[in-house]
Amino acid sequence: MELEKYSFGIGDRFGYQGKAQLEAVKKANSYGIEIIPVWNKSFREHSIIHTCPADTRKEADQAVKELNWSQPYYVDADHINLSNVDDFIENSDFFTLDVADYIDKTSEKQKTDAFLDRNRKYLGELLIPGIESPFRITLEELEKIARKFLFAIQEAKKIYDYISEKKGKENFIPEISIDEVDLPQTPVELFFILSAISMFGIPVQTIAPKFTGRFNKGVDYAGNIDQFAKEFEEDLLVIDFAIKEFGLPANLKLSVHSGSDKFSIYPVMGKLIRKYDKGIHIKTAGTTWLEELIGLALAGGEALAMVKLIYSKGFERFEELCAPYSAVIDIDRAKLPVSSEVNKWSSEKLADSIRHIPDHPEYNPHVRQLLHISYKIAAEFGNRYLNMLDKYSEIISEEVKENIYGRHIRRLFSGV
Ligand SMILES: [Zn+2]
Repeated sequence: MELEKYSFGIGDRFGYQGKAQLEAVKKANSYGIEIIPVWNKSFREHSIIHTCPADTRKEADQAVKELNWSQPYYVDADHINLSNVDDFIENSDFFTLDVADYIDKTSEKQKTDAFLDRNRKYLGELLIPGIESPFRITLEELEKIARKFLFAIQEAKKIYDYISEKKGKENFIPEISIDEVDLPQTPVELFFILSAISMFGIPVQTIAPKFTGRFNKGVDYAGNIDQFAKEFEEDLLVIDFAIKEFGLPANLKLSVHSGSDKFSIYPVMGKLIRKYDKGIHIKTAGTTWLEELIGLALAGGEALAMVKLIYSKGFERFEELCAPYSAVIDIDRAKLPVSSEVNKWSSEKLADSIRHIPDHPEYNPHVRQLLHISYKIAAEFGNRYLNMLDKYSEIISEEVKENIYGRHIRRLFSGV
């Protein structure tokens, strides 16, 4: 299996918005932007919502059937490792091998020596075609990179081999993710990580590094955009060079995690992938469920009351809900209105507070983020919540489509 040039990670918490998301992708395709959908959901997400990988497969297959989608599509076992991959084998054909937990662990001396031998030729000045000034690589730095990443990549190979054995290596797309760590990887680190990936023989098709800046859940990118642009551009060139140097798959491309809502870097990434004629994979699934809340708010009556109830419970359980996301949210508690105030809001006011239109006067990123992590509460409502998704599916679908197509795809492929 070979992943196409442009792909979008879609999917949603409760598995109800597959069709609406595919419609957004279809709309892009009708304008000549060929995007391939990849339904992704992590083990973590399945555990909290109490869904299983078969549900994601069903959502994808059903949307594809209903919309007569004739191009490829995939189901991504997102952020998996050896301890939880089993559940995903049957229903996934895209595997994101998450090795962040294995960074900084010591690898065998023999492997380290092999890695150093392979890369000795890059010591001194390393010139990457397209990057103006050469990088200076010292033995000390190379050893440091080995200490940091080699064990993790070896672990990725173990997971890769395990999946290959079960599924056959032609039957899935491997991604390696190292994004859930504290520090971003530099382009030089990325280059040698790719060298290690090649050394262990993993035919990786997408790689998700941690980029500079903050990728908080549900809100825009926070960081230095010029610095991001420089790093992203260098990463593209590093990958290009690594494909040739290390014989990695020609379609290898960057995967951007927590890609939803990062509006200010979309035009930057779009411009750079077009400049170098490169592909990209962007995972946008996480916050799609907020469009359900917007749709429900707009529907009024019991649906509006449900959204207000989720907010008030989220407000009460603030600490508990924030804890697992502390590194990826930025909520100012002082900017959260109290529940009794939100309860007085109209449909429009609540929808406008949540909807991610950065310059809208009612938009409140704190309300949006709190509601985002309150998906656990919606899950606790079970059928009471899910039945509303059925009942108000039309108004919700419109929000989902506009979010993926209007706010995400159009920003990346400007001028569409
Ligand atoms: Zn990730």
